[in-house]
Amino acid sequence: MNSQEKIDFKALTKDVFDYKTAMDAADIVAITDEKGIIQYANDNFCKISKYSEEELIGQNHHIINSGFHSKDFFKQLWKTISNGKIWKGEIKNKAKDGTIYWVDTTIFPFLNEKGKPYKYLAIRSDITERKQSIEALKKSEERYRAIFSNALVPIFTMDVATSKITEVNTPGVKLFGYESKEDLIKNFDPKDHYLHPNEREKNMIIIMEHGELRNIQHMKRKDGSLFWCSVFVKLNEEKTISQTILLDITSQIAFQEELEAKVAERTLELSESLKREKELNEAKSNFVGMASHEFRTPLSTILSSISLMKNYAEKGQQELITKHIDRITGSVNHLNAILNDFFTLEKLRKGFVDFEVNQFSLPDFISETISEVDALVKINEQSIHYSHTGESYINQSSKILKNVLLNLLSNASKYSEHGKEIQIESQVIDTLVTISILDHGIGIPFKDQKKLFTEFYRASNAKNIQGTGLGLTIVKNYIALLEGSISFTSKEGKGTVFTLSFPRYLSEDSW
Ligand code: ATP
Ligand code: MG
Repeated sequence: MNSQEKIDFKALTKDVFDYKTAMDAADIVAITDEKGIIQYANDNFCKISKYSEEELIGQNHHIINSGFHSKDFFKQLWKTISNGKIWKGEIKNKAKDGTIYWVDTTIFPFLNEKGKPYKYLAIRSDITERKQSIEALKKSEERYRAIFSNALVPIFTMDVATSKITEVNTPGVKLFGYESKEDLIKNFDPKDHYLHPNEREKNMIIIMEHGELRNIQHMKRKDGSLFWCSVFVKLNEEKTISQTILLDITSQIAFQEELEAKVAERTLELSESLKREKELNEAKSNFVGMASHEFRTPLSTILSSISLMKNYAEKGQQELITKHIDRITGSVNHLNAILNDFFTLEKLRKGFVDFEVNQFSLPDFISETISEVDALVKINEQSIHYSHTGESYINQSSKILKNVLLNLLSNASKYSEHGKEIQIESQVIDTLVTISILDHGIGIPFKDQKKLFTEFYRASNAKNIQGTGLGLTIVKNYIALLEGSISFTSKEGKGTVFTLSFPRYLSEDSW
C-alpha cells in the first residue's frame, strides 16, 4: 500500500469499527506507516494541530514539532517503538498557526508476523491546560523561592504540628549560628532558642488565636550567646504552616540602653553640679553672713580700743594703752584665723595643698602637739591625758596630722567647761593608726549630728561659743588626703569622742 494513501477502514469488523469510532470521539488519533508517515489523522488531530487532513496525510510528525524536545528524546521514542514496544510520554507540539499545545501520548506499534512494526497508532489527549497551570505554578514557586532565598532578612517556614522548620534562608541559618540550612532543619528546636522557653508557649497561643504575632524577644544562638530580635509571625489559613521573619535588633537595643544610661548619667551629673552650685552659693552667702557677723565683734573691739587709746595717750596712761594694744592684737589674730580657715578650705577644695610624707614617732609627735595647746587648755583650767599602744613609727604627713589634731583639741577644749579633762589615745596596729580625742564637754545634740561636717554648720548648743563652723570641714578634707576617715559619737551634756583612722604607711605616689 502506498503510504501516501488513506487507510481504508471499510474492511474492519463492526466491533473494531465501533472501537475506532469511540476512540476518535475521545482522543487525538493518528496512524503512521513504519517510517512515521501519517496515514490517518482524525478530526481531533486536525482541530488541535489546525492542519487539514490533507495537509497532514503523507507528512511525518515533524510538521508539528515545536523544537522543545531534544533530538535524543525522539531517538529514544523511535528506539522504543521500532523495537515493538509501547511508548508513553508528554509531547509539546506546535500547531499550524504557531500556537503550542501539549499532548499526553501513547504510541502502539502494530507488529507483523515477524514481530516487526509495520504501522504505529498514536493516541493523544490534550493536556495543554494542565501543563500551563503546572508551569505557572512552577514559575510562581520559583519567584517565591527567589524572594525567600534572596531576602536579606532571616525567614523561616515551620510546620505547626511538629514545630519543625521546613525552610530557611541563609540569613536565618547565620542568625542562629548553624552550619548550614540542612544542619538547622535537622536540629532546630524552637524552645532551645528562647531565653525564657515559656515565652514560646505564650507566643504560640497568640499565633493560634490571632493568626499572627509581632513582638520583641530575647533569643539564644546555638552557642548560647544572646541577642534581641523583633519577631513577625504569620500563619496560613489552615493554621498548619507559619512564616517567621526575625530582625536582630541587639545593636539598636544596646544603643538605646547606652543612650538611656548616658541620659541618666548626665542628668545625675547635672543635678550634682546644680547641687554643688547651690551648696557653693549657700557657702558664699554663709561666708558673707559669717564675715559680717564674725568680723563685727573683733572690728568693733579694735575701733573702741583705738578710741580709748587716744584718750589714754592724752592722759599718758601707758599701762591701759598696752592692754588695748593686746586686745587689738588678739582681735586681729582672730580675724586672721577666720580668713586662714577659709583660704585653707578653698585650697583643699581645689587640690592645691602639697605635703610630704615623713617618718616620725606618733607618741612623740602627739605629745609635742599637746604642748602647743597647753596655753589654751590652761586658761580653761583643763588638762590633757595621753596614752599610746603599739608601734611608734609611722609614715604619714605630720604637717597635715598636726592641723587635724589642733582643730580637734581646740574643739574639745572650747566645748568643755572649765576643769574638764580631755583624753587622747593613739594606737598602731599592723598597718592601721587610730587616734581618739575624748572630752566631757557640752556634747552635740542628736539633731545636729548629721550635719556636723557641713561647712559653717554649728550645733544649736554652741552658738555663744566663738567659732565659724569651718574647722571640722577642714579636718575631714585633710583626713581624706591621709587616706583615712573620721567619725564621732556624742551625747549632749556628757561629752564627745572623735576617732581618726588612717594607714600607717602613706605611699607618696598615692596623691
Ligand atoms: P572653727 O571653724 O573656728 O573651728 P567651730 O568650732 O564652730 O569653728 P567646727 O570645728 O567645724 O567649727 O565644729 C562645728 C560644730 O561642731 C561646732 O560649732 C560645735 O557645735 C560642734 N562641735 C565640734 N566639736 C565639738 C566637741 N568636741 N564638743 C561639742 N561640740 C562640738
Ligand atoms: Mg572648731
